[in-house]
Amino acid sequence: MSDQFDVVVIGGGPAGYPAAIRAAQNKLSVACIDEWQNRDGSHAFGGTCLNAGCIPSKALLESSELVHRAQHEFKAHGISVGTVEVDIAGMQKRKAAIVRQSTQGILALFKSAGVTPLQGHGRLLPGLKVEFTAHDGAKRTLQAKHVILASGSQPMELKSAPFDGRHVVDSWGALDFDAVPKRLGVIGAGVIGLELGSVWRRLGAEVVVLEALPDFLPMADGQVSKEALRHFRKLGLDIRLGAKVTGASVAGGEVTVAYTDAKGEQPVVVDRLVVAIGRRPYTRDLLAEGTGVALDERGFVQVDEHCRTGAKGVWAVGDCVRGPMLAHKGKEEGVAVADAIAGLYAEVNYKVIPSVIYSAPEIAWVGLTEEQVKASGRAYKVGSFPFAASGRARAMEATAGFCKVVAAVDNDEILGVHIIGPMAGEMIAEAVLAMEYSASSEDLQRTIHAHPTLSEALHEAALAADKRAIDCLNK
Ligand code: FAD
Ligand code: NAD
Repeated sequence: MSDQFDVVVIGGGPAGYPAAIRAAQNKLSVACIDEWQNRDGSHAFGGTCLNAGCIPSKALLESSELVHRAQHEFKAHGISVGTVEVDIAGMQKRKAAIVRQSTQGILALFKSAGVTPLQGHGRLLPGLKVEFTAHDGAKRTLQAKHVILASGSQPMELKSAPFDGRHVVDSWGALDFDAVPKRLGVIGAGVIGLELGSVWRRLGAEVVVLEALPDFLPMADGQVSKEALRHFRKLGLDIRLGAKVTGASVAGGEVTVAYTDAKGEQPVVVDRLVVAIGRRPYTRDLLAEGTGVALDERGFVQVDEHCRTGAKGVWAVGDCVRGPMLAHKGKEEGVAVADAIAGLYAEVNYKVIPSVIYSAPEIAWVGLTEEQVKASGRAYKVGSFPFAASGRARAMEATAGFCKVVAAVDNDEILGVHIIGPMAGEMIAEAVLAMEYSASSEDLQRTIHAHPTLSEALHEAALAADKRAIDCLNK
């Protein structure tokens, strides 16, 4: 096998593997190195996203939501199912099969695109060389014309509550529980804490979420965070804001978590504790001396707006560089870099990266929040439409939440769209497309939406921005 490639990608997660595939589509010779190791010792492409993140979490979110609906919603449809039995082993088996199918799919995609998969560790050496160490210890030095670093991220640990892999776990551990904990503690009311807290709550756990900040979901639009907090609390998540964890100790199979909040020092005792306080870039043994690639003060690989590092021919994408840690952000960067290497037009529009929280109701947004627009001083208008006024949402027994459009007064440009409600994560795609093309709220107003669909809520919210909504009151 040749050790010379046009492109060597280090990392086969959602940033690295699309970069490899696109580079191969661009008729370049490509190798993709990945070292991911599963808990059973097996190796798989797909990184955090496919093995321990997006995909397994969504599998459990879907299963647990079905349990919740069977218990709480079926009756309203005139369906009675008696006692709902939950089989955690069966649920976990389904999740594992979905993960396996997804990760094996990458190998099939590599084969058809002509990407050489290399499982083991990659280390960048000076001179666009990459040292590859296979899992059996065999070493090869590859020569590349371009190297793309896509080494991802890892969970942050809390010094006062270190992971022990059983009682105090990270998100991967919390995806693998073999039984529903009676009492679950979650540190961090971020995306992971809320998604995994929802999973285990719906399956019967008592869940306490300790969040250091006084505000709930501060990155979301204020009205959305307020509505979201109400729904999470209705589900039974005991969310405590302004809670600073000072320590956690494991004894007798229990975890005692000490925290302080406005009321002073508080203890909470749980059976399992998930620490979900964010992730940090992962670059262990990635860079040899003298490569010219720099890390910033937080450990991210330093890149410019085109994902170029300080070393000619070396690029970096995904969670290991600045920006939101989202699979789709990494994918766009990976693909853009592979196109740029081939001399094609490539640009990532960082202004329209959607965010989705897969709770029930789902939360999704793109662009600026109303608070951000207000702070910018630009005159704006807002249109909202409640799902309670949507015929489709009523038919689905899913009337919680609303759709909100924020647009500029001067040129009617859509500045942000915020949705909390059924299928928000799917609906946001229309807003992303609209904003990608700098659409005005009038463009959305003039776009025909099928009836009865949830997407009519976005149409009506755009109309409401000009007080022209038909199916709700124009306030
Ligand atoms: P990673 O997915 O971390 O992949 C990096 C890969 O590189 C890994 O396989 C790693 O082993 C390998 N690697 C690292 N260093 C080397 C080396 N030196 N040599 C060889 N291989 C190396 N994002 C979303 O957009 N939507 C979601 O719904 C979502 N849900 C999530 C749920 C959870 C529980 C978690 C933890 C994360 C979730 N994320 C979600 C975030 C998402 O998983 C990450 O943003 C995404 O995986 C980052 O992609 P990446 O390719 O940059 O890194
Ligand atoms: P996060 O940054 O979303 O949330 C971490 C939360 O923990 C914050 O609210 C923070 O204030 C809080 N916190 C930090 N230190 C704390 C402390 N000592 N005590 C109490 N609270 C503390 O991080 P995450 O939830 O760990 O997720 C990591 C990354 O994974 C995020 O960047 C996220 O984008 C990504 N992710 C995305 C999705 C999705 O797109 N649906 C799902 C899961 C994860």
